[in-house]
Amino acid sequence: MAARLLHEAGNEVLVVTRELGEASRVPDALLNPVRGKRGTVALEAEEALEALWDFYPRFGPVRRGILRPVPEADRGVWKGKLEVRKIPHQWLEEGLYLENAGWLETTPLLHRLAQGLNIWYAEVERLEGRTLYLRTPEPRTLRAGLVVYAGGASGAHLLGLGGRFTPGSVLQTQEHFQQARSYGVYVAGHSLGGSYLPHRNSYAPHQTEPHEVEWLMAEAEKLLGYRPRFRSSWAGVRYRLDQNYLKPIPGGFALTGFGSAAYFYAPLYAHRLLKRLQGKS
Ligand SMILES: Cc1cc2nc3c(=O)[nH]c(=O)nc-3n(C[C@H](O)[C@H](O)[C@H](O)COP(=O)(O)OP(=O)(O)OC[C@H]3O[C@@H](n4cnc5c(N)ncnc54)[C@H](O)[C@@H]3O)c2cc1C
Repeated sequence: MAARLLHEAGNEVLVVTRELGEASRVPDALLNPVRGKRGTVALEAEEALEALWDFYPRFGPVRRGILRPVPEADRGVWKGKLEVRKIPHQWLEEGLYLENAGWLETTPLLHRLAQGLNIWYAEVERLEGRTLYLRTPEPRTLRAGLVVYAGGASGAHLLGLGGRFTPGSVLQTQEHFQQARSYGVYVAGHSLGGSYLPHRNSYAPHQTEPHEVEWLMAEAEKLLGYRPRFRSSWAGVRYRLDQNYLKPIPGGFALTGFGSAAYFYAPLYAHRLLKRLQGKS
């Protein structure tokens, strides 16, 4: 997203990447301002919602609305948290309906974002200031005018910023859920996903484990009243930094660490990066 915005603003952008997104290829992504089972309203959620609705629809459909079937006993606390914020919502019999939240299919979006960008598929072995050392058959270096690091969990070792790495899986359901629902786990499109495994201090590739499938199914039963059938699974690793998603680094900026709210915050922070580069903030 940042590469797209910088390119559209007339900058000369070269994307150096092993492949087109990794954890970002989670099949369907929620755009959810009210998080978890405690109803925590995300920091800067109002600004993030505005930025994402300005951005994503230019590149494809975004499905509107998330239903959060909050138990009756917890609704008072959730209402208190929402009262002091400006997040459009309604309380229905079934729970909280977030009309300005939503979900999107990531793969078509990533391809549309990449259209017309100058992309170089290569592995970066090391990053020193504005110099990238590439792992190519012939060792090669690239010198950039400015580096924007957006290498997610698998590239985090290049910077060593610390952070938390959380593996997780999404089951690809046979059923299509046009209406996103989220409480414990989420369903949207052909996805059933959620957070279950503990955080780690470093990156390791992840593959879906049988106990994750059992957990997702048990939670889905609570959410939907039945266990949906699935045909395959997708696994990835989230990378989370402590809400400081845009940091200066030697040679430029790091734009990373959004955890499981990556698609929610990315348009807002891509805009912030653009403004900083234009000297407007
Ligand atoms: C189970 C699960 C469910 C999720 N659900 C949601 C959701 O509902 N909503 C939401 O918003 N987010 C969700 N996320 C989070 C989100 O999908 C990703 O964490 C986020 O998009 C990460 O984006 P990124 O661009 O920072 O990293 P990635 O998508 O991981 O991209 C990193 C890029 O850097 C490249 N790279 C890394 N190292 C190197 C190197 N050495 N050399 C060259 N290139 C390199 C990779 O090839 C890749 O293209 C979920 C994640 C998981 C795991």
